[in-house]
Amino acid sequence: MPRLHVQTFGCQMNTHDSERIFDVLEPHGYGAEPEAALADVMVVNTCSVREKAEHKLFSMLGRLRDWKEARPGRQIAVAGCVASHQGSAIIRRAPWVDVVFGPDRIHELPVLLAEIEQGAPPRIAVAFDYDAPTFLSPVVDAAPTKASGPTAFVTVMKGCDERCTFCIVPYTRGSERYRPAADIVSECKHWVRRGAREITLLGQTVNSWHEPVTLTSQDNDCTSLDIASQMRSVPRMQGSSKAPSHFAQLLRLIAEEVPDLLRLRYTSPHPRHITEALLDAYHDLDLLPDHVHLPVQSGSNRMLRRMLRRYTRAQYLESIASLRLARPNMTFSTDLIVGFPGETDADFAETLSLVEEVEFTSVYAFKYSPRPHTPALNFEDLAVAEDVKEARLAKLFEVADRVQARHLAGLVGSEVDVLIESRGKSNEGLWQGRSQRNEIVHLSAPSSSEPSASALNAAVLAEGALVRARVESAGARSVKAKPLVLLASPPAPVRLSEAGEGQAATQPAAAHANAPEGKRRLPLTTAIAGGLP
Ligand code: SF4
Repeated sequence: MPRLHVQTFGCQMNTHDSERIFDVLEPHGYGAEPEAALADVMVVNTCSVREKAEHKLFSMLGRLRDWKEARPGRQIAVAGCVASHQGSAIIRRAPWVDVVFGPDRIHELPVLLAEIEQGAPPRIAVAFDYDAPTFLSPVVDAAPTKASGPTAFVTVMKGCDERCTFCIVPYTRGSERYRPAADIVSECKHWVRRGAREITLLGQTVNSWHEPVTLTSQDNDCTSLDIASQMRSVPRMQGSSKAPSHFAQLLRLIAEEVPDLLRLRYTSPHPRHITEALLDAYHDLDLLPDHVHLPVQSGSNRMLRRMLRRYTRAQYLESIASLRLARPNMTFSTDLIVGFPGETDADFAETLSLVEEVEFTSVYAFKYSPRPHTPALNFEDLAVAEDVKEARLAKLFEVADRVQARHLAGLVGSEVDVLIESRGKSNEGLWQGRSQRNEIVHLSAPSSSEPSASALNAAVLAEGALVRARVESAGARSVKAKPLVLLASPPAPVRLSEAGEGQAATQPAAAHANAPEGKRRLPLTTAIAGGLP
């Protein structure tokens, strides 16, 4: 059995693609190999959002040359955004690479590797699938051969129609293509049947999702028909907060069709697609958590205009205020770029003041780096000096860390609802999870002296359980809390089978205290960059 190791760089979308890479190869007999040194096939799933990540790829490929030569028959494949925009240039620079394939060609990987095995020259497959978009997902009707963890990701769209002047994504992932609602709902059900309690919908501008126009009433799935008939009369909204939103309807549909789902997150929304309909959804849908990751990129109108973000600082703040009106406890995280061409000290000060004003609880910030194909290359005569960028980034982190620490300290003594995601690391608590507001929470053992905790013992705490806990202390990035009440038991263990329809097993919840047998673990993956831009 060939052993597969996937090395992932970049955002959640890439991490998700790495899962799909594993999915398409597994039926062909490939097994996961956590140790790169022991693998037969190495897939490097790349990120090109920042220049640094691209440099890391080529230094890694340099090291992989020796890895490949150490054992005959080993294969190297390069995936992701760098593969997409560099294509054959990767082979020219690193001729020991066997396959270069883009995000839309993942399903072809087994054939491409087989061709290499039979002696074919390096294979390059990077074209976009505009004619017939594919959304790789698990075989949703299959018997469960693997359980899910408590959290799962579901792709709803790919590509991006925005043209932010700094961003390479539209050139590496192509124009927007949307997945039918029926498929999305079906995959959500699939993961919930396998133990997921929280799903994150993924898309480059996830809230611009709309039902693909190819959906017709001939579709025999009633879910599709319902949403299609509702949506056919709804014009695609663009840039108006008053416009209707297919995305909000999708959230409602998932809430209705997947009742066992506890939390529904999404990333990354574009600020200009925060609609009235989405705000209404926050009023109505309890499964939407009190947190939104809303990339802003800069606090300066001058920079926002130059970046072609299509909103002003005031409009961004208006969206924040509207979301807080719908959910007073709402927290926000964001992405920021410092040192964009022409950024002055005054522009940067606007970014700092925005961090304070919104009170972002988490900030993913990067120095601007010029990317191929992007319009911002034309601004190079306005480039900000590297040492200025460094100093601004350091200052930004200083302010963001202070704001985050202040927020976390303010939680001490309050109660938070925590979805348990994993066992805690040593000294941090028994379990680790996230609150409604996306704070990282380390849970200690329940207190036997706490009356409300009488029904709560360590045995019923497990991955996928939802507990209310009291925050006892705050650190720089997380809080520690003591469990008080079990709000939702962990899902019943999934009975895994090779064939036949899988069913939830009937063992009591306490038996689920450890990760379910067969729980899927990808070969070692390393995310080195922040969220989607
Ligand atoms: S920053 Fe986001 S919205 Fe802008 S072009 Fe890139 S992916 Fe699209």
